[in-house]
Amino acid sequence: MILRPLYCDQLTLDIASLKQANPKRDVLLLAEVYKEATYVKHHKKKLIFQFSAMRHFAQELKSLGYRVIYIELTDPENSGTFKSEIERIAKRLSPEKIVLTKPGEYRQLQDMLNLQETIDIPVELIEDNRFFITPNEFKDWASGHKQLLMENFYRMMRKKTGLLMENDQPIQGVWNLDKQNRKPLPKDLPNDKHLKIKPDTITQNVIDIIDDNFSDHFGQSKEFSYAVTREGAEKVFEQFLDHHLKFFGDYQDAMKEDNPFIFHSVISLYLNAGLLNPLDVCKKVERAFLDQKVPLNAAEGFIRQIIGWREFIRGIYWTYMPSYVENNAFSFNRKLPDFYWSSDTKMNCIRRVVKMTEIEAYSHHIQRLMVTGNFALLAGINPQEVHEWYLAVYADAYEWVELPNTIGMALHADGGIVGTKPYISSGAYIHRMSDFCKNCYYNVKEKFGEKACPFNSLYWNFLITHESKLKKNPRMKLPYLNLERMEKSEKERIQKQAKDFLKNIENK
Ligand code: FAD
Ligand code: SF4
Repeated sequence: MILRPLYCDQLTLDIASLKQANPKRDVLLLAEVYKEATYVKHHKKKLIFQFSAMRHFAQELKSLGYRVIYIELTDPENSGTFKSEIERIAKRLSPEKIVLTKPGEYRQLQDMLNLQETIDIPVELIEDNRFFITPNEFKDWASGHKQLLMENFYRMMRKKTGLLMENDQPIQGVWNLDKQNRKPLPKDLPNDKHLKIKPDTITQNVIDIIDDNFSDHFGQSKEFSYAVTREGAEKVFEQFLDHHLKFFGDYQDAMKEDNPFIFHSVISLYLNAGLLNPLDVCKKVERAFLDQKVPLNAAEGFIRQIIGWREFIRGIYWTYMPSYVENNAFSFNRKLPDFYWSSDTKMNCIRRVVKMTEIEAYSHHIQRLMVTGNFALLAGINPQEVHEWYLAVYADAYEWVELPNTIGMALHADGGIVGTKPYISSGAYIHRMSDFCKNCYYNVKEKFGEKACPFNSLYWNFLITHESKLKKNPRMKLPYLNLERMEKSEKERIQKQAKDFLKNIENK
């Protein structure tokens, strides 16, 4: 008999370690453990999603004839960590070996490598087959490049997967339509809703367990409406394909106060946990384009996020861990303001993004990057605190994908491994891409005074303060040309405005 433990984000019959399983001979192990639920205080909706999806998956496995051991959180014998649960069950069953798919996070991999030292049974770790490229293949690619450009990686992945390709060339002769992904929202926005799934009895029970055991975690548990099975996740994705994908390209970067999702797919939690398969979703999007249901900028924009950014980010994680987490290129040490948890701030953009995060355990990419991320960078918040926040608050957060997005893309704390320049902007960008500013205490057009939008002075202050590090960067040429045009006295006023704001940041 072989023992085949499955992590909480390996919930698919297609995962490598399960593909080779013999249902009659082998035993599969799933466990709800305190350590995974609390190593950061995950949003309640993330925990509900995870536990309920695990319970549904165990039920599916049993119905297919697999022998499953399922350890519930409140099981009195539950020892609280995944490693110790594997040890406990292995002692009881004496399997001939233990076979796992490699876990997604570095600390989990260390646990599994240590398992072999604490147990007298062979432990076999196999590559996670849900990705298009292995960490070692990524390292090989990276070693051949001085600067790791996502665009080069993405082109290689297009060729490797054949998605939107014609004889080794991109369809319609263009690789990347990013420039066509930046339109602000029209006034008469189509308002097709994202599909909500009603919780069944299993999910209702899990909601009670999470409320009882994790009441001090961020976020609300009520109105949980995410899918918790593959069928449910597929329905959510079909709804996106039918109603939202055609607008995804044009309005990918737009933000709206009362609609966190707009035309985004809201499938990252399903992809990351195994309920949806990345190749399947990309093929469906390619098919929608080939059938002329959606324009190329929508299909290309979506596929780029998955075979480009998602895989690139994972490659960076495995190439640079464990030291990557400590990066702090600008030596920032300001504490994360309380309003990242309470949403109690007069800055409407931050208030709304934190509020939607609290309610949904979701905000879309530009809300993460250009609102909460942008502010954290401009205000000089400590990157490790920001990283722990992002890891805690989103339903799709796993360190392999969250960390390089936060440390690298949002905070530029890795000194330019993920992004060739910092993603920073003044209030003007947020104003152009959203409706946040019209209901804000601050005035987006002002740089000075009590009611001036804080993003304005913080933006210029950031450029002035880090000039020696950033001015040489060719992609920063335009902002520094603009800065050069500014009078010395104006620069001094801006720095004072920013300093006064930062001194009193908790009351802003
Ligand atoms: P869509 O906009 O519909 O995009 C489709 C899919 O593309 C997503 O589901 C996702 O799987 C993938 N994708 C898009 N952008 C990225 C990206 N930059 N990196 C990786 N995959 C991407 N994504 C996570 O899955 N988990 C995280 O913990 C996470 N943390 C982030 C932290 C910060 C600071 C930032 C800036 C981004 C983070 N992202 C993370 C990436 C991205 O914001 C989310 O994947 C996306 O918002 C999920 O919403 P969606 O499914 O509606 O995506
Ligand atoms: Fe945000 Fe400034 Fe706009 Fe207010 S005015 S919503 S702080 S960008």
